[in-house]
Amino acid sequence: TPVVGVLALQGDVREHLVALAASDAVARPVRRPEELAEIDGLVIPGGESTTISKLAHLFGLMEPLRARVRDGLPVYGTCAGLIMLADKILDPRSGQETIGGIDMIVRRNAFGRQNESFEAAVDVRGVEGEPVEGVFIRAPWVESVGAEVEVLAEYEGHIVAVRQGDALATSFHPELTGDHRIHALFVDMVRARGASGSL
Ligand code: GLN
Repeated sequence: TPVVGVLALQGDVREHLVALAASDAVARPVRRPEELAEIDGLVIPGGESTTISKLAHLFGLMEPLRARVRDGLPVYGTCAGLIMLADKILDPRSGQETIGGIDMIVRRNAFGRQNESFEAAVDVRGVEGEPVEGVFIRAPWVESVGAEVEVLAEYEGHIVAVRQGDALATSFHPELTGDHRIHALFVDMVRARGASGSL
């Protein structure tokens, strides 16, 4: 059974732990650099990307996170987590840094004030059956992607789910619905990586 961590600095950590446990993974919070060595995959939750960035520095996690992701640790980011996985933010707050790992440029709070939070059915490539119920909360969208990035979903012409290698990201929050298909997809990615002999 793969061990999947949830970066537990800020954000909706508990909901991800529950969704992962329901998807056949051993789920555990990660706060210290040492804990990064003990996981086969990592989820970066939604919350506030500027705060997560600040706390990652404060806890000495930023460089270890970058190193693990560079080495191919499977990662999944939702919303603020998607922003953390972007190689570039279009409109970063001063000092805001990312872990990176996905060759994309993201726009924070992209869906705008009148529509800061909403739900919409989203068709996600690789997820069988009904569309996913996308919960968008002050969500980013992906402005552009590099050649290595696979676009998994768009909403109203904007990219809201992507994958590059073993890095997955969504603008929306599957952990807030009872539907664990995207977490199951991620756990499958973690398992596949393990089967290729790297665990
Ligand atoms: N707007 C937040 C940010 O920029 C993301 C919101 C969320 O994670 N729900 O980090």
